Amino acid sequence: MMQKNGIIFNIKKYAIHDGPGIRSTVFLQGCPLSCWWCHNPEGRAFGKTNVMSRQVSVSEVIAEVEKDVIFYDESGGGVTFSGGEPLSQAHFLYEMLTQCCKKEIHTTIDTSGYAPLESISKIAEITGLFLYDLKIMDSKDHIKYTGVSNELILENLKIIHNMGKNIIIRFPVIPEITDTYENISQILEFISSLKNIKEVSLLPFHNIAQGKYWKLKKEDKMKKTPPPDISRLIKIKQRFELQGFSVTIGG
Ligand code: SF4
Repeated sequence: MMQKNGIIFNIKKYAIHDGPGIRSTVFLQGCPLSCWWCHNPEGRAFGKTNVMSRQVSVSEVIAEVEKDVIFYDESGGGVTFSGGEPLSQAHFLYEMLTQCCKKEIHTTIDTSGYAPLESISKIAEITGLFLYDLKIMDSKDHIKYTGVSNELILENLKIIHNMGKNIIIRFPVIPEITDTYENISQILEFISSLKNIKEVSLLPFHNIAQGKYWKLKKEDKMKKTPPPDISRLIKIKQRFELQGFSVTIGG
């Protein structure tokens, strides 16, 4: 693997919801999924497709994130690679992770898990933490709401778990889509079988991306959906806690 350039659409400084401590989050362009509730529709298409996206070199990204090393060190933070789907630019990502390792900067990957097995296992060797999305356990529903089936995602999760990687599961709470009793039961059953997984983040749906869909002239399938109310979120949190997971709401 050797790729010195890639496409990103943002670098967010002082992020506090993308892994431990204070972090810089690098958003890589392109995602093979098309989740109905996606908050970053501008990051989904591949290539330089929007005004924000730009081609950058590994050294440019590293020079930028290195500026805040003092904050990472003070807070136990580091760099998070998000997207889009960061594993879609696996070679570029690998080079950035390698540079972070050399500089002893902690790394996190925020991923849908939808990537070839060879890519994710190679990347996992040099990644500090995975924020791993689990959305829907029924494969047909997964295809309906995200555009892809979930077998690869579940298989990849088992593989990186068996590699002993640190993983926090991220569960998007999407009213009447992911938050059904049955779906949550199936997710609980699956992650309970992965003994090293202890933490879950609930990501409540919100409709802040409405304006982006409008600007991009894309259909917003969630425009009539309100965010889940707090009592609903607490009930879901309690279900995960009853199974022994430590649960946060939000990042
Ligand atoms: S996986 Fe993430 S970036 Fe990709 S479409 Fe779904 S929500 Fe958007």
